[in-house]
Amino acid sequence: MPPFILRALANGYRGLLETTLKAHCLCNASHVSVAVPTASLPLAVHLCHCDTCRRTHGSLGLFNAHIPAPTADFATLTAYASSQDVKRYFCSTCGTHMLDYDAKTKEWNISISIVDGPESLWDFREHIYLQDTKDGGLGTWLASVGGKPLKKWAGGAIPDSKSEFGNWEPPTPSTTDVSKSKEDILHASCHCGGASFNIARPTPASRALLPPLATASDDTKWYASNDVCTSCRFSVGSAIVSWAFPTVDRVTLADGSPYRRVFGTLKEYRSSPDVSRTFCGVCGATVAYHVDDRPDLVDVAVGLLEAADGARAESWLEWRVHKLSYEEDAIHHALVGALKDGMKTWSEERKV
Ligand SMILES: [Zn+2]
Ligand SMILES: [Zn+2]
Ligand SMILES: [Zn+2]
Ligand SMILES: [Zn+2]
Repeated sequence: MPPFILRALANGYRGLLETTLKAHCLCNASHVSVAVPTASLPLAVHLCHCDTCRRTHGSLGLFNAHIPAPTADFATLTAYASSQDVKRYFCSTCGTHMLDYDAKTKEWNISISIVDGPESLWDFREHIYLQDTKDGGLGTWLASVGGKPLKKWAGGAIPDSKSEFGNWEPPTPSTTDVSKSKEDILHASCHCGGASFNIARPTPASRALLPPLATASDDTKWYASNDVCTSCRFSVGSAIVSWAFPTVDRVTLADGSPYRRVFGTLKEYRSSPDVSRTFCGVCGATVAYHVDDRPDLVDVAVGLLEAADGARAESWLEWRVHKLSYEEDAIHHALVGALKDGMKTWSEERKV
């Protein structure tokens, strides 16, 4: 039989056995592909809430799946060693986190939020490292996806555990009474520390600069929202990106100087002509979003905040609960629907 027929047959057979997953970054300079056994689909997805994931991405959590070794043009990516064994790879031009690799376990993870294809590729299974959030973080709003409960683990997942729900114990109401927190400076930093800054409480003058839709009803807090737009999803590498909306005059850099867009280790990427996104050139954390015609405002990535009460920083932030930003862009509809429902339930429970 001619070699090309043999090759075609081999590829056809292989095509049945393998599915190629493809992902790209926001600026399209970086591409990843990986062949996974078709029988392994849908791939198990875990949502990591650990301090390192939050500080290297800027989001409240990361949706990852284990994959076989991927193909990528690593020349377009920056590698950041977030620990002795783990390297995280993000686009050097726009900051999209795409992959991580653990040299100890020899495991690759892909950011599933940037993979082309339907939500049915993924099996949302569990939350991990919720203990790092103190308050449950994003896990509080995502009890289930598509009607299937997600296990909640305080640390890493325990694969052979018989537990149906995981071992995370949410904090008791007395420990989450955020009204007790009176910090007047909120520190924020990326994982490598190259982009470090402080946010102060609003003042009447700063509140006057805010558009009504981004003004908290509590005058000691900043407004915050969960964004599921396409640009944010690619920029961070996460389907859910949480932003806080302080005014520039209340943000100072770690050395006390006034806020400016590019400082420390930051790089800027313009995702549209009037939009400036900044990310850390060393660890890849998304830091801020600016629009040229609203120079008084800066959207800050909530994953970088170091509030004493926890990842949701409720002592500082008033969360918009009735609406997600840019829901029409979402590609993972069951996930986004679950977030909406979870936020609604959460806000109703807090009213009683
Ligand atoms: Zn890019
Ligand atoms: Zn993590
Ligand atoms: Zn950094
Ligand atoms: Zn967005």
